[in-house]
Amino acid sequence: MQCPVCQYTNSRVLESRSAESGKSIRRRRECLQCQHRFTTYERIEFVPITVMKRDGKRESFDRSKLLRGMVRACEKTGLSALDLESIIDEIEAELQQRSQREFPTQEIGELVLQRLKSLSEVAYVRFASVYRQFQGIRDFAEALNHFQSDTDPQNGNEPTSTEEDPSSPRESSPLETPPSLCSAS
Ligand SMILES: [Zn+2]
Repeated sequence: MQCPVCQYTNSRVLESRSAESGKSIRRRRECLQCQHRFTTYERIEFVPITVMKRDGKRESFDRSKLLRGMVRACEKTGLSALDLESIIDEIEAELQQRSQREFPTQEIGELVLQRLKSLSEVAYVRFASVYRQFQGIRDFAEALNHFQSDTDPQNGNEPTSTEEDPSSPRESSPLETPPSLCSAS
């Protein structure tokens, strides 16, 4: 790290501590030539993620947009906004780790589903219905079968939410209100 005073490139680290609630490391350094002390921050490089929509349009990954869609699908399922935000955190971190920078909407939707599956059957089916654009009750049944066959009863992840029947008509059916994640604009 180049000294800001004399431009010498060697310094010694006097102190390292975590900063920005663990998102960076702050280092106190001393120039080996002029003894000037300065501070550097080390962060994970954040690379923008692009989402490819069904109609071929591209836009930057927008977590608040994804959250809105999830909140709508997960209404009255017992999942809190905090639960949904931590799902998005996980997904965003996962996408950041990959070498590709562009992801189809469907791929992000599948990542959401993977996580909803272990949390709430109703949320899973509702979210699947909007982002996979179900055509009718048969698709619903297929998603339910998929859910049941993928849920391993051995690890205690059995569906727990039984108070709502996702196939019954509701006042705000997710079929009629697709989240903006999937809508063509
Ligand atoms: Zn210096």
